[in-house]
Amino acid sequence: MHTLIAITFRICFRFGLFVLAFPLLAHASLPLSSNVPGGVAIIPLGSVSTSADMPQTWFGDQPVLVTSDHNQWYAVVGLSLDVTPGSHELHVNIGGVTKALDFVVNTKNYPEQHITLEDTSKVELSDEDEARADREFAVITELKHHWRAAQDTDLAFILPVKGRLAGRFGLRRFFNGEPRAPHAGIDMAVARGTPVKASAQGQVLAVDDYFFNGRTIFVDHGNGLITMYCHLERIDVKTGETVSKGQRIGLSGKTGRATGPHLHWSVVLNGAMVDPELFIPAKHRRR
Ligand SMILES: [Zn+2]
Repeated sequence: MHTLIAITFRICFRFGLFVLAFPLLAHASLPLSSNVPGGVAIIPLGSVSTSADMPQTWFGDQPVLVTSDHNQWYAVVGLSLDVTPGSHELHVNIGGVTKALDFVVNTKNYPEQHITLEDTSKVELSDEDEARADREFAVITELKHHWRAAQDTDLAFILPVKGRLAGRFGLRRFFNGEPRAPHAGIDMAVARGTPVKASAQGQVLAVDDYFFNGRTIFVDHGNGLITMYCHLERIDVKTGETVSKGQRIGLSGKTGRATGPHLHWSVVLNGAMVDPELFIPAKHRRR
C-alpha cells in the first residue's frame, strides 16, 4: 500500500513538473510518420521560439493540423488512400508569409481481402438502397471534412475496445468477388454489447444509423482529427456532447453491413481516412 502511494505520488510529482515546465504548449505525442497513401506525413515547420504564433497549413484547400513537440512546430498531414505517390506541396503560413514545402508520398501495396456475404442485398443494392447509400455518402463526406479549431488535440489514442484485430487498414476488398472501396479503418472482433470507449477527448460531431456503417458515432478531436465508431448496437452519446478519453460512448454490435459482431474504427485527418494504428503509442501497438 505504501509503495502504491509512493508511486502515485511520484507520478503526480512528475506530472506537476511537466505542467510547470510547459505551461502553454501542452506537447503532443506525435503519431507514427508514414509517407504513404493512408498514412500520416509529419513535416517540421521550425522552432517554436522563433515563431510563437502557430503556423497555419493547407494540403490542397483543406486546413491541416499543426502541433508542437520538443519546441518544434509540426504539420501532421493525413494522406488519403487515393493520394498519388510522388511529390506534393504543403502550403504554410508563418508570421503572415506563405510558402510551399515539398514532401514525398511513397507507394504502398496493401493486401487483398475476399469476403463472402450471404445477404446479397448489401452487395447488389436495390435502387432505393443505392439512393440511400449515395445520400449518406455525401453526408459522411461532409462530416469527414469538418474543421473545428481547438486549443490542443490529443494525438495519442487508446484502442476503443480490446479485441482481436480482424481486419487491417487499407485492405483492398472484394465482396462476393466484386471489387469494392478499400478498408478505411480497422476491425476489432468483439462480442455484441462490448463497451466502446472514446479514443481521446473530443466533441460528438454526429450520431446516425447508416446503410453500410450501421449505428455510428463521429467524435471530433479538433483541428481536423475525427474518429468514427461503426456497427454499434447502442449509442450512449448525443451530438454536441463533450466526451473524455476512455469514456464509454456505446456498445459494439453488427448493425449495417457487417459479417459478424465487431467494431469498425476509423480515423480521419484533414478529410483523409488514415491508418488508426499510427495513433496508438508504441507500447500499446499491436505490431
Ligand atoms: Zn471494417
